[in-house]
Amino acid sequence: MEAERESMKIRLDDMTWADVEELLKKTNVLVVPVGSVEQHGLHLPLSVDSRCATYLAEQAAKKVIAEHKLRVIVAPTIHYTDVTTFQSFPGTIGISADTETRLIADIARSFVSQGFQNIIFLNGHASNVVPISAGLRQVNLEYQDAGLFALNWWALGFETIPKIRKSKASLHADELETSLSLVIQPENVQLDKVVKEIPKYALSEKWVSPDFYGANRVFYHSRRKFPKLGSGVGVMGDPTVASRETGEKIAEAVVNDLVQIILEVARSEGFKA
Ligand SMILES: [Zn+2]
Repeated sequence: MEAERESMKIRLDDMTWADVEELLKKTNVLVVPVGSVEQHGLHLPLSVDSRCATYLAEQAAKKVIAEHKLRVIVAPTIHYTDVTTFQSFPGTIGISADTETRLIADIARSFVSQGFQNIIFLNGHASNVVPISAGLRQVNLEYQDAGLFALNWWALGFETIPKIRKSKASLHADELETSLSLVIQPENVQLDKVVKEIPKYALSEKWVSPDFYGANRVFYHSRRKFPKLGSGVGVMGDPTVASRETGEKIAEAVVNDLVQIILEVARSEGFKA
């Protein structure tokens, strides 16, 4: 029983160093969830990005272990990240993109130097995209054999999510995040405070869309989108149509894709020049 319990552990921080040393002989995949401490409107808590990334990583790891008899480790979630956009909202805690880049690089370097071969950074927060990639590029220069992967959960389940969702605009504290939160932390979702807010950009929708699945040909860095705290509650999308049922379907689609990626990474021999 004890051995069985030990063998099912997936969280790095639940293990002893000796467990990790042993496990490194059996697995070559580590998943690092990356989130934020950031406002998510009046109806969702500050933890949404971190909780979504952590939940999806852990569900995928459990599935890989149960169905494919392959070990995967999930690292402690990185919570403090760049949240420039919403810095003025109380409780939102941000570090600079530069600090985050170094943080990601230091963490990846630490794992790689101990023999972790493939590291998947599973991201739950849009502003992390650039720091994660920039940090991993630094480490890749030093450890050319390391497998370093960066992916955003909303880019997974791409065949399913556009068909499941009811809203047309999804960016932040939206239908997707609210639905997932109804699965992950329903006790912290206040559906009576839900409102729809669609951001207006300086450029037309041909170039910038208020939707992850729309055309985003121009990256728009301007806090003019959020004139001042009080003119909106911090939602970018339509969470009024969210449901737990949608959340379950999104989670399933994302987890299934993440499982596939983990298996492909685990079985690959890496990039050979
Ligand atoms: Zn979010």
